[in-house]
Amino acid sequence: MKVDMNQSRRNLLKLGGVALAMIPVVALAAKNDAMRTAMKYKDSPDGEKQCATCLQFVPGKTANDKGGCKLFPGDTEVSPKGSCVAWAKKA
Ligand code: SF4
Repeated sequence: MKVDMNQSRRNLLKLGGVALAMIPVVALAAKNDAMRTAMKYKDSPDGEKQCATCLQFVPGKTANDKGGCKLFPGDTEVSPKGSCVAWAKKA
């Protein structure tokens, strides 16, 4: 009986590994189009206003990498040089 449970566990782990391998890499990059439209997001600054200086910005790996925005759930393609109507100066 114990052997059967270990085999079942192994099979379950293998199945999980296969399922993870099937997730396409492109799924990791996403845009929240609804919020982008609602907030009039654009990939360029609005004068001094840009995502890199906004309270809501979640930086990427480096200062020039795309990141996220706390107001755009699931969006990983927010440019540090972008802007929208919800810009609020970072303290
Ligand atoms: S609220 Fe607007 S300006 Fe601020 S980080 Fe998000 S998208 Fe950029």
